[in-house]
Amino acid sequence: MPKSVHIKTFGCQMNEHDSQRMLDQLAELGYAPAATPDEASLVIVNTCSVRHNPENKVYSFLGTLRPLKEARPDMIVAVAGCVAQQEGEKILQRERCVDLVFGPDNLFRLGEMLAEVAGGRRVCDTHWAEREGRVQNFVPEEWVERGHVEGIRAYIAITKGCNNLCSFCIVPHTRGREVSRDPENILREARGMVARGAREIWLLGQNVNSYRVSPDYGFYELLRGVCRVEGLARLRFTSPHPKDWNNALSDLMAAEPVICKQVHLPFQAGSDRILKAMRRRHTLAEYLEKVAYLQAAVPGVEISTDLIVGFPGETEEDFERTLDCLRAVRFSQVFPFKYSPRPGTEAASLPDDVPRAAKESRLARVIALQESINAERQQALTGTVQTVLVDGPHPRRRGWVNGRTDGWRAVTFPGGARPGDLVRARVTGHQGHWLLAEPEPAPETAAETPRETTHED
Ligand code: SF4
Repeated sequence: MPKSVHIKTFGCQMNEHDSQRMLDQLAELGYAPAATPDEASLVIVNTCSVRHNPENKVYSFLGTLRPLKEARPDMIVAVAGCVAQQEGEKILQRERCVDLVFGPDNLFRLGEMLAEVAGGRRVCDTHWAEREGRVQNFVPEEWVERGHVEGIRAYIAITKGCNNLCSFCIVPHTRGREVSRDPENILREARGMVARGAREIWLLGQNVNSYRVSPDYGFYELLRGVCRVEGLARLRFTSPHPKDWNNALSDLMAAEPVICKQVHLPFQAGSDRILKAMRRRHTLAEYLEKVAYLQAAVPGVEISTDLIVGFPGETEEDFERTLDCLRAVRFSQVFPFKYSPRPGTEAASLPDDVPRAAKESRLARVIALQESINAERQQALTGTVQTVLVDGPHPRRRGWVNGRTDGWRAVTFPGGARPGDLVRARVTGHQGHWLLAEPEPAPETAAETPRETTHED
């Protein structure tokens, strides 16, 4: 069978990015992408353990690979990511079909590990890379200028790991202590991506805005540097932590047209008592104050968030504060989760005392409130002119294209725009989460930069 790889990715953008890095390495080794495991000589399951029941999901997916492995014993099955880091050898013991287990710190050793597997060994490599000090160029030199570009978009990991130890979160245990890459190393990667067609770059980190390489150079300075990469149309980042957000970042967002007017700022819970138990190191009032400044500095900014309902000890009154925060901020998108203990975290030792029915009802109330807020927000966009970065043709509507607003809303409109074009389009309505639009006539002078308008314009 010719060499081909299928990667099943669970979880966040960081994991998607890691999967892309694997695909790049494998392409060099002669692997073609395979759409399904049935067609693949190598299947990699890139796992996430942040949310509920991750091991079960991984093991149930591995279960579907068992008959394939029996039919084709030379097929290689690998497990990567956070569950791999956490479970290590246990995965090899529990699942006979798995040949290779490796953690996020061993991502760039994929070729060597596969060679060991080809030699007949079952391999587990979850050792940590050495972390000396705050700065570590964790992308090997030969890959810096060959970062993956998917269509018009590319991701750059600027930090690795997390120092926050939020009490519910497993990430610091699976990704290790935080390190930041040298800015020149990141800028070289960004320039290489733009040269290969990237129009939009996302800077990634578990706690992206705690990026810092020296007392004088942190996330603010890096954002300013990346904005100036010639040819880059848009810059986004995820996920910042509220405690490390400051008004200077809001001002920078307002001043730099390349930085998108969108931010994912997880607040997790509205009650200060629960925030303290979560070790979030900010209060609701501090969060709201920073958001109010941001919304004033960057009119129309789209803010999304994560939140947890049913954290140990959360009362109905605590939960009401979460709803208050939704009403106050009026997020563009909310990713709500029912609390479930993650083994190995501090919160796992607390009694999981909020009844399941209460968690479910709180989740439903969050979703209902957010849906009504978002419907109003979408409605308010009707008639505005948005600058849309075009992704490509609509898969089903002939003659239509899809793209994203500066605020990361999905838009579709008719016309012959090409991927990477920035198009001014007037919103005419919406369908589900999609905005429908009509292209606006081109600006009269070439110097006129497309920008977004509000009803007041
Ligand atoms: S900031 Fe908190 S929630 Fe986010 S990765 Fe770090 S420990 Fe986890």
